[in-house]
Amino acid sequence: MSAKPITLGVDFGTTNTCVAYVKGKVPRCVPTDKGSLVLPSVVAKSTKGELLVGNVAKDQMVTNPKNTVYGVKRLIGRQFRSKTVEELRKYFSYEIVEGEDGGCAVNLGGTVQSIPEVSSHILSHCKKVSEAFLEEPIEDAVIAVPAYFTDSQRAAVKEAGKLAGFNVKRIINEPTAAALAYGFNRGFDQKILVYDMGGGTFDVSILQLHGNVFEVVATGGDTFLGGVDFDNRIIDYVLEEFRRQTRIDLATSPIALQRIKSASETTKIDLSMMANVMIELPYIESRRGKPVDLRIALSREKLNALTGDLVDRTFQVVGNLLAEESLRPTDLREVLLVGGQSRMPLVQGKTHQYFGKLPRKGVHPDESVALGAALLGESLHEEDAVTLVDVLSVPIGIALPGGRFRRIIEKNASIPTAKSFRLPPAKSGDVELDVFQGEAEQIVDNEYLGTLRFAPDLGGRKVTFQVDEECMLRVTAEGTTGAAREVLLATKDTPQSLKEAWNEEMARRAAEQSAAEPPRGGGLFASIRRIWGG
Ligand code: ADP
Ligand code: MG
Repeated sequence: MSAKPITLGVDFGTTNTCVAYVKGKVPRCVPTDKGSLVLPSVVAKSTKGELLVGNVAKDQMVTNPKNTVYGVKRLIGRQFRSKTVEELRKYFSYEIVEGEDGGCAVNLGGTVQSIPEVSSHILSHCKKVSEAFLEEPIEDAVIAVPAYFTDSQRAAVKEAGKLAGFNVKRIINEPTAAALAYGFNRGFDQKILVYDMGGGTFDVSILQLHGNVFEVVATGGDTFLGGVDFDNRIIDYVLEEFRRQTRIDLATSPIALQRIKSASETTKIDLSMMANVMIELPYIESRRGKPVDLRIALSREKLNALTGDLVDRTFQVVGNLLAEESLRPTDLREVLLVGGQSRMPLVQGKTHQYFGKLPRKGVHPDESVALGAALLGESLHEEDAVTLVDVLSVPIGIALPGGRFRRIIEKNASIPTAKSFRLPPAKSGDVELDVFQGEAEQIVDNEYLGTLRFAPDLGGRKVTFQVDEECMLRVTAEGTTGAAREVLLATKDTPQSLKEAWNEEMARRAAEQSAAEPPRGGGLFASIRRIWGG
């Protein structure tokens, strides 16, 4: 009988979720979906009103798009009125509404659920399946999140875990987890790079390993570059080839398009193993009452030609990060490839070319984040087993008059960290301070974290922002008595004044944009094309 309770390591991905545990010091993944180690991060309400999770949910995507919710990780912890959500709403086929707290919610089969709630269905499915598999109850979890997640995104992930019945022991950054899976207890002293290309995002991190000290040195990436962009290139190619062969345009038929989309992803994955694939979709259309079949050959070489620039873009991001850190490719001892899309042979080849060495073997692209999270979970039982040293990847600051953003804690500051500043003196009444996180100069382009409200006696006094080891913000203020006291964010719901400023700015930009370019067709077509779990 093992005395220690199991802590589940969770890689809650945009596209897929994977969970792992440690037994007898060995980390392993739990089969969560019909024997598969990864579960599509998809939640749906069937036409009969049943809640579906994973492949069964993904399978009814075409027939029930409005009630099939995917890619929620892109929405978690974001304000409904934010630039990213505004952008994403155009592409998702399900309805995104404003939640009670100013966050996002979805309409799932007639009931409005917050994003943490929807996410919790995925996590509670994993919990249930793991408990059955391991034959013991599981309470504790360590959940991995992207390094660039803001304070509110982290808080929302924690909330999702809690709603699923977990006691969330720690939030860990995904690249750190991948590095742990590679280097835990192996006594390395080296700098490594984690290249993570998933379904919709590309993340790159540089870490320094000293024994069991894992230090994130720098992070970068592109939140709109991932596997789905590769799929889209294949879709475009197939549509064009079919048009050339038959003069039929399938782009206007949502069902045909969804079949092509699905086949494109499968073909892409197959081409990681094989040199040639025949895409065959019988009865894709009918002409004069007769079925027309789709049959198009695609080689790996052709795929590389269609998508080579996407891979090149990732290496530009890598190059920029190295330059920022004054590092050369040869300064990195190992390169860990993480994320499903990094399995593409072209990515492996470019890695070899760029770094002059092959990517590290034995690091599993789908599993390593979950395995690393599980290892951290296990080590939390022991004193000082692992030390994680992180940096803040997105600056935190406050709103200034006129909507400008003043950074209080800078990007790449080592955490935990604290920084103090003086509050502007109160003219009358309470002092309000809107807190944001982001890289932009203007607050509307950053993520809103909350509003601090101080009694007038605090005006002119010192406020301290503290970022803890999980990258989460705590605020304290010194009152007139001199004693520090913790102030909670007074509200997470965007205050009316901010909403108005936001609406005005967005209207101004929309007017500017529509003058510059005519709007493109949206609807189901765009939703299928652009983002699937991306
Ligand atoms: P996320 O982190 O977004 O949850 P994953 O790491 O699970 O994503 O990666 C999913 C992406 O990886 C999808 O776009 C999928 O098509 C792609 N993918 C999975 N396996 C392969 C493969 N063998 N070759 C190329 N791409 C793959
Ligand atoms: Mg991932």
